Amino acid sequence: MAETGCHGGRETMLEAASAAGKSAGMAQLMQDYPRGPHDQPQSMCPAFGALRVGLRMKRTATILSGSACCVYGLTFTSHFYGARRSVGYVPFNSETLVTGKLFEDIRDAVRETAKPEDYDAVVVINLCVPTASGVPLDLLPKQIDGVRVIGIDVPGFGVPTHAEAKDVLSGAMLRYARGEAEAGPVARPAGLRDELPMVALIGELFPADPVGIGALLAPLGLALAPGLPSREWRDLYGALDCAVAAAVHPFYTATVREFRAAGRPVVGSGPVGVEGTAAWLGAIAKAANLPASVLDAARAKLLPGIAATLAAAPIKARITLSGYEGSELLVARLLVEAGAEVPYVGTACPKTEWSAADLDWLSAHGTHVQYRASFEQDLAAMRDVQPDLAVGTTPLVQQAKEAGIPALYYTNMVSARPLFGAAGAGAMAGIVAAQTRGRERFTRMVSFFDGVGTRDAAGYGWQDKPRDPPGFRDRLARQRAAKLKAEAAVGT
Ligand code: SF4
Repeated sequence: MAETGCHGGRETMLEAASAAGKSAGMAQLMQDYPRGPHDQPQSMCPAFGALRVGLRMKRTATILSGSACCVYGLTFTSHFYGARRSVGYVPFNSETLVTGKLFEDIRDAVRETAKPEDYDAVVVINLCVPTASGVPLDLLPKQIDGVRVIGIDVPGFGVPTHAEAKDVLSGAMLRYARGEAEAGPVARPAGLRDELPMVALIGELFPADPVGIGALLAPLGLALAPGLPSREWRDLYGALDCAVAAAVHPFYTATVREFRAAGRPVVGSGPVGVEGTAAWLGAIAKAANLPASVLDAARAKLLPGIAATLAAAPIKARITLSGYEGSELLVARLLVEAGAEVPYVGTACPKTEWSAADLDWLSAHGTHVQYRASFEQDLAAMRDVQPDLAVGTTPLVQQAKEAGIPALYYTNMVSARPLFGAAGAGAMAGIVAAQTRGRERFTRMVSFFDGVGTRDAAGYGWQDKPRDPPGFRDRLARQRAAKLKAEAAVGT
């Protein structure tokens, strides 16, 4: 069963999960995270998104239940990204999986971990194989000595991107916290003193961005609520207490569902550039029932500064953009406002109502927006457009550099800078200018390496391009054909 996972076929795994009693959960995942063109994740294991949300929360323990190879990869990645705490793991074998002992092992691990002096919450994440096998995390106790227990299924065959996996945990926690808040008084978030109506931002943002957005909200008489995914359990209550929820990242479907259940209006898009900021402030003011005069005054105060920053550092470049973080459309809007030509934006995230305004704006400015973009679509767009700069994922950047196109890794460069307000406008111009200056250097590099081996003939230490032994490829092709024939014969 372990080899099935993300390479084993989505349909087989889904059928197994449904047969094992998880059809309602799988149907909810299908509804929240509609499928894309490919049948398996094209970026890192989706569960990483949920794991990361758990690991970044104070006083929260996160336990994985899955195949050892998956857990190894997830643990490695989480420490690569600076997790400063342990990842819990409940291993299994065929016997514990089939007999139900795995569930008992998970329950024991949760009991052992759930110490109120250490934790507010214990999160258990079912990966592909335990989900497909029906390990029933919903049967775990809801709390142990006041420590909340949250069990979620985050299989790669049901959650297409790690972005959406953040929503699975964020939504599950918010749902739990909403239940607590509805049942009686709850703790006040630490440091929350503002008595102004609040806006809760949804999405993992660059740390300076919430501060910048807070400055944009101040002239409206609004303050920031704790954002989501939250950093502390009691922040969930603060977020729920908002006047407006802002789905800055547009893929938090389960999280938004909880805000709506709490009666909070939800606004999409984000304050990028002049037009984006004007529209976003308008949507927030409307949702918060503010008078037009307050909105007009805020716009008059804020927009000239953003316009001046954009005018001071115009971007003169043709750019393609692709990523899996959910902010792709906002980044593209900012680039277009700064003067760039952006013929293509690909996002691995699905189309939702919270990016609808960005889609309309970009389409009106000649940008093709590809939701649930596959790597192949991103690559084809880049080859077709031949941009001055390709912003994308690691494999796309690799292909761009091979073709002599300056390229920028989205996660490390774009997501690691402010995006909103005047700070975002300034930062974006700086990185694009620095990267597009490198075009001539890339062209020189391509011609320098012209004639050396590529792909399986790449390497160093060779005097000439490495050559296959005579007949090698033919022999392998014959072996593959014979193997396929033998397999087909067994099947008949
Ligand atoms: S848990 Fe992640 S790595 Fe493991 S099989 Fe599923 S999608 Fe692949």
